Parts: sequence; structure tokens; C-alpha cells
Amino acid sequence: MFGRAPKKSDNTKYYEIPGVSKNASPDDLKKAYKKAAIKNHPDKGGDPEKFKELAQAYEVLSDPEKREVYDQYGEDALKEGMGGGGGGHDPFDIFSSFFGGGGFPGGGSSRGRRQRRGEDVVHPLKVSLEDLYLGTSKKLSLSRNVLCSKCNGKGSKSGASMTCASCQGSGMKISMRHLGANMIQQMQHPCNECKGTGETISDKDRCPQCKGEKVVQQKKVLEVHVEKGMQNGQKITFPGEADEAPDTVTGDIVFVLQQKEHPKFKRKGEDLFVEHTLSLTEALCGFQFALTHLDSRQLLIKSNPGEVVKPDSYKAINDEGMPMYQRPFMKGKLYIHFTVEFPESLTLDQVKALETILPARPVSQLTDMELDECEETTLHDVNIEEETRRRQQAQQEAYDEDDEMPGGAQRVQCAQQ
Ligand SMILES: [Zn+2]
Ligand SMILES: [Zn+2]
Repeated sequence: MFGRAPKKSDNTKYYEIPGVSKNASPDDLKKAYKKAAIKNHPDKGGDPEKFKELAQAYEVLSDPEKREVYDQYGEDALKEGMGGGGGGHDPFDIFSSFFGGGGFPGGGSSRGRRQRRGEDVVHPLKVSLEDLYLGTSKKLSLSRNVLCSKCNGKGSKSGASMTCASCQGSGMKISMRHLGANMIQQMQHPCNECKGTGETISDKDRCPQCKGEKVVQQKKVLEVHVEKGMQNGQKITFPGEADEAPDTVTGDIVFVLQQKEHPKFKRKGEDLFVEHTLSLTEALCGFQFALTHLDSRQLLIKSNPGEVVKPDSYKAINDEGMPMYQRPFMKGKLYIHFTVEFPESLTLDQVKALETILPARPVSQLTDMELDECEETTLHDVNIEEETRRRQQAQQEAYDEDDEMPGGAQRVQCAQQ
């Protein structure tokens, strides 16, 4: 490992390999790793082991989620997260974007042995906020292609196959199309006799289990562990569990969490938000209520004696938010947003009674003379949202009319006549 003894919770090595600082931008990281990858490429006489290590390090740092885990907990945490093995990906695939996808410029000796990588299969996985708060595991039954066990993915009893006579083993066929005159269009398409594989199996030699298809369908139950504190959009990967195919590195099954809306709680990162409406009496004279949390605990929420809660204000309870991912013993905050419902109107007696209790009104600054000079006005009720919407609609219509060129042009013409 680069002649370095592993340190406890080492989280700097991946930065030291290409020689970049810990807060390097993704672009700087990419540049540094590209330089190192070219220098250490096996096709250029580089050490394959060193190249593999580079690729593993870059795979981690180029993924913001993995980089965060690495920065905080080091290499070992990632290995746990990757299901024990870790770093099972082809280093040439990880660096493929550096080498234009078509391999390494000028090299090529090792490219021929490279295996194709199968597609990843991505499934959305709906979870409730309760699931993300408490953690859960879901069993999912999926069917996938696996290499036929009877013929080991050869498709034939003998293990042999014949070159497809239809395409001479190329897997592709070219057809001509006359486009009239002297024009001919050449079209290339996969051979339909051998489905593009370039080989066929004789009827007698065909594997009875897979009928020569090389793969069979298998039902498999995957248990997806949704950990406490996971986020909407977070991925849970089962490496190498996608469809198997001959001469192919099997892709991953990836579950993407989709959190369903919660009727009561909204989540923002590690914090939870809940709405609560108070009557005016509660807002002024105190309140208490029970709030059922995501784990069914009843939280008693109450004001301090003499405390007044203003409309549209927030209060927070520490450590009653969402658990933090991989640190579930730490929790965010639970915010309560208060709305205060005012009475629609008061009787004159109520007004008098209130005035004796509430702080005195500010003394009127207007003299009688000044009052005489004022004009009387009337206050009307308005629905400001409704009026704003109407105003915007009117503006939009005016704008649309201006846009209609024919009408506009005609008006100009009329004016000229
Ligand atoms: Zn063929
Ligand atoms: Zn078979």
C-alpha cells in the first residue's frame, strides 16, 4: 500500500496518492487523478496494483456521498458500507472517462482482455418518514437472469459452439438498400440467427436447461436495509446482483429511496417541522398539548408561565428531529411553527374588559384641529392572494395580446390609412 503503514481511521491517504489537498474541488481532484492514472497506466509500463489502488481511491473521491463518508470515517467505513468486499469495480471502467471510453491512447495490450460491464438495474423504493426515522428492512422479490448452471453459461452440452454461418462469426450483418439512381445505402444490424453473438449451437448439442440461451430466469429475494436517518434519493446498492450474461461483469441492483409525503411532519435534512394552530387565548395565556412522534411516543409540549406566543413564530425541541445517518444516537431538532387564530370580532363589553387588562393604547398624537382637516375613509376587507392572482392574470393577458403579431400589425396598418 504505497509503503505506508495503515493509520487508525486513515482519511488522508486518498488525497496523498495524487498529491492534492483535502479540500480540493472535484475538478482539481479529477485533474490530479487523470495525471496519475496516465503515469501509472499498465499499458505504459505502470504497476497494475498501483493503478488499481488509484482507481479505488478515485472511485471514492469522485462520488460526493462516498467522499463524505471517507472524510469522516476513513477507508474502513467505506469497506463496511460496500458490503465487505469493496473496490470490486474494474479500474479501467472507473478511469474510462479519462481515456475517452475507447481505451488508453497509444496502448491497447490489456484492452482485449477487458470484460464488458453489464447494466445496473435501478429500482425506486417507496418509504415512509417513519421508516427513515426508525429504520426498517424490506424484502423484495426480483427475477433476474443468471448463467445457466447446467452448461455454465456456454449454452451447449459439450461446451462447444460453432461459428454462425449467417454472419461468419462477426455478429453483424450488412444489408443494402437501393435509394434509386446510383445510390445504395448500407445498413449494419445484429445478426438475427445468432442474436449478435457470432456463434450458434447445433440442435443436438443445445443445453436442455437454458435451450441454448446461456442464461435462465431466477427469482431472488433481496432484503433491503433502510437505515435510520437515510435521505430521500439515497441509494442502496447490491453489487453484482443485476442480470448475469456470458463474458460480462454483472452490474449492480440499485434501490433509490423515495420518501412518501407525511401528513404531519416535514423533513429538512436532520430537522423535522410540524404545524400547530393556537387560539388567541392559548397564545396569550398559555397552552399544552400532546404531539405523537414518528415512533408513537407522546411528547408533551407546553408554554412557560406568562409566555406569549406570537403568530408565525417558531420554537424548537432539541434532539427530537431525525436521527443522523450512521450516527443514529444523534438527532436534529423538531421545529414547531405556530399559527394563532384570532377571534373574528368582539362585543363592546369584551373590548371594554380587555382594555382594562391590556397595556394602555398609545396617546393619540392628533389634535382636534388636525382631526378637522382629515378626510374620513372606510376600510374594506380584502383577499390579498385573490387580488394578486387576478392582477398577474391581467398582466399575462396583456402580454399575450402584445405578442400576437397579426393583430398588432393590422392595428398599425389601420392607423396609417
Ligand atoms: Zn450470426
Ligand atoms: Zn444451459
